[in-house]
Amino acid sequence: MKYISTRGQMKPVGFQDAVMTGLAPDGGLLLPESLPNVEGYLEEWAQLSYQELAFEIISLFATDIPPADLAELITDSYATFATPEITPSVTVGDFQILELFHGPTLAFKDVALQFLGNLFEYILEQRGGTLNILGATSGDTGSAAIHGVRGKPNINIFIMHPAGRTSPLQEKQMTSVLDDNVFNLAVDGSFDDCQNMMKTTFGDLDFKTTHSLGTVNSVNWARVLAQTVYYFYSAFRAMEKTGAATVQFSVPTGNFGDILAGYLAQRMGLPISKLILATNENDILSRFFNHGTYGMADVVPTLSPSMDIQVASNFERYLYYRVGEDPKKLVALMDGFKKNGTLAIPLNENGVIDDLFVAGRGDTAATLATIKKYHEQCGYVLDPHTAIGVYVAEQHHSDTAPTICLATAHPAKFTQAIINALGEEVHHPVLDILADAETRCDSIANHVDAVKDYLVSHL
Ligand SMILES: *Cc1c(COP(=O)(O)O)cnc(C)c1O
Repeated sequence: MKYISTRGQMKPVGFQDAVMTGLAPDGGLLLPESLPNVEGYLEEWAQLSYQELAFEIISLFATDIPPADLAELITDSYATFATPEITPSVTVGDFQILELFHGPTLAFKDVALQFLGNLFEYILEQRGGTLNILGATSGDTGSAAIHGVRGKPNINIFIMHPAGRTSPLQEKQMTSVLDDNVFNLAVDGSFDDCQNMMKTTFGDLDFKTTHSLGTVNSVNWARVLAQTVYYFYSAFRAMEKTGAATVQFSVPTGNFGDILAGYLAQRMGLPISKLILATNENDILSRFFNHGTYGMADVVPTLSPSMDIQVASNFERYLYYRVGEDPKKLVALMDGFKKNGTLAIPLNENGVIDDLFVAGRGDTAATLATIKKYHEQCGYVLDPHTAIGVYVAEQHHSDTAPTICLATAHPAKFTQAIINALGEEVHHPVLDILADAETRCDSIANHVDAVKDYLVSHL
């Protein structure tokens, strides 16, 4: 399988190169040249364990990794999870809640980043050399990435987070990792500022090459790929439980990485009847899917900080498919967006942007009310991100397709929101031990030169 850039200016590369490249040199995002149709495998795949299923799916895309090596990478990556099912689903009210938070940092990002960390290590062993990871995080990515590569030889990781805008626990999950190869940078700005600093640094190709920079942000193809697995796995479980022939997914969305994996699973043949996209007050994506205009606004801090994003880095991959896999059309849209801060897509013949998607937003009041409601009625505590997905899903009931709501984090990560909603805390032992942990973090200015200087002086 070869990988191309959404912007059409990159020579196709293999899987390992795609993983190491992150963003394409032409500024685009990498995608497989074509998506396999897996409809014929679904019946057989429904019988597999999570790891076996991950192997079947990933091996279709990672054709330059020998099967035995890939199987070992997958086994190692999911050995760090606290439950044998890796991503179990539980019935809560009308919904199947897909618990994606049983990895080391209690957020869904572990599913991809435990795998990506091992994959980086493997590729570097094959090829030699070192990798210096530069990432930007609104909270969960950073700690999941750090836990994915901590202590690994030949890898350093530099993670920028917006100072004071991640939850105190999320910050501690990052800054308490004291391995020599881990560097935490608190940036005096927003998550979008961090993301822009990262993108500008990667845009300097000389700098990127000289310092062997790589990325772990959700633009990395291996992350999206690893996330497709739980769409299949949970759909099989929901179809077994209910006898339904299709499912719908509700996805709390920020950078469009998680829901993109669902979109790709559907394009590969998984019977998904609807993707329900849920945002908080930072609703650029729900506005897009409802009205066709993708227009920037200021970022507002919310109770669901991992969704406090305006420019969704994975959205370009969706747009590429939406414009018929035509790089010229895609480039025209992205250029217009860069110039004007907005882009528009015409409605289709059914008067919507995409028949597969519905979208909505949940604000602070909806988040708190939803957490409270499911605690009272079902005895289940949703984290604030998951609560928004559930809230929006309530408005899109289907009689034929069970709704799977992605639970993207454990509620104990978001203490303040849970206290506001329930008047009491939720605990998790992994987090409780952080209270007295020693931490390490450096502050830098909100400017690309600040991060470049830091990298140069620490490599
Ligand atoms: C990252 C994250 C999201 C958003 O996922 P995207 O892939 O960026 O859309 C939602 N919830 C939680 C808890 C997250 O960590």
